[in-house]
Amino acid sequence: NQQIILKSRPEGQPTHDNFQLVSTPLPTLGAGEVLVKNLWMSVDPYMRGRMSERDSYIAPFALNEPLEGGAVGEVVESNNPAFAVGTKVASSKGWRQYFITSGEELQPLPDNGIPEQAFLGVMGMPGMTAYVGLMKIAELKPGDRVFVSAASGAVGALVCQLAKLQGCYVAGSVGSDAKARYLKEELGVDAVVNYKTSQNLHKDIAAATPEGVDVYFENVGGAHLEAVLNRMNAHGRIAVCGMIDLYNATAPQPGPANLSNLVTKKLKMQGFIVSDHWDGYPAFVAEMAQWIQQKKISWQETVFEGIEQAPDAFIGLFEGKNTGKMLVRL
Ligand code: NDP
Repeated sequence: NQQIILKSRPEGQPTHDNFQLVSTPLPTLGAGEVLVKNLWMSVDPYMRGRMSERDSYIAPFALNEPLEGGAVGEVVESNNPAFAVGTKVASSKGWRQYFITSGEELQPLPDNGIPEQAFLGVMGMPGMTAYVGLMKIAELKPGDRVFVSAASGAVGALVCQLAKLQGCYVAGSVGSDAKARYLKEELGVDAVVNYKTSQNLHKDIAAATPEGVDVYFENVGGAHLEAVLNRMNAHGRIAVCGMIDLYNATAPQPGPANLSNLVTKKLKMQGFIVSDHWDGYPAFVAEMAQWIQQKKISWQETVFEGIEQAPDAFIGLFEGKNTGKMLVRL
């Protein structure tokens, strides 16, 4: 059974040296247990935080232990009548090919024609994050003018579509022209800034938001936050979902110089962690499945093949190698 352990804690940008592929024999199946073969695993930016030793909302990964994260697998042996062989399940036991469990942590996937790996993306944690952040935290209203950073990622691309479904003007920022074309041509996003080629982020974000910003869905932080703060309209809402620009920083980063916008424009700025809102997940799944079936929501995936590629996929998140959900097929 191949699995990836955390060999050392990254300093700054993670590298291959932080990870090690190890092979361990699988124990035999006990009474009431099931053997799950992982088919897909997710890599997510939040895992970077868990690789460092610091207090946070979730415990750090232990050194020399297999990493954990979202996965979708299939029951291949079962001593538990609740899980027939062939059942597709979601778990938090990624970064390994197989695992044995009593079944308590498994969520059987509904058989609704939606591809299983979507439960790691639009139908799973990133999808729920976009939904909660936009609807609950930012209190999106039809017609709002919305700006989204990291707009072509798993969360961002869904935020764009959810806001378009509400009849909003949507602008976003991305790190490549191909991603900008995807957002405009396939998702109907109104304006996109390529922050990597931009000579002046303040100016380009201003041009992309001619009527200002009522809702900022923040995934990046740093220079993005400062630039969008200048564009916020009175009574605007900022949902702080993530700040990926800061995750690999080795020293404290300067804050925005223009936070006084919060006062003068009477803004609300609120961070959130999606797991606090998990009671709403069944309702979200039902609604999202309908939107997908009605072809109102679409998504892209970037897939790395084989467990040995999982570190590359993870590191790739910080290099913008993904459009839509970054996945590893095991
Ligand atoms: P993505 O699929 O968006 O992948 C990360 C993307 O971020 C990359 O593709 C890259 O795209 C962009 N990026 C990477 N580094 C930088 C940088 N320095 N500056 C600007 N953009 C960068 O990941 P997710 O959709 O899973 O996550 C998006 C955000 O949401 C993250 O901040 C994450 O931490 C947060 N999150 C928060 C949750 C919560 O509960 N609060 C739950 C889940 C996610 P590009 O080419 O455009 O640079």
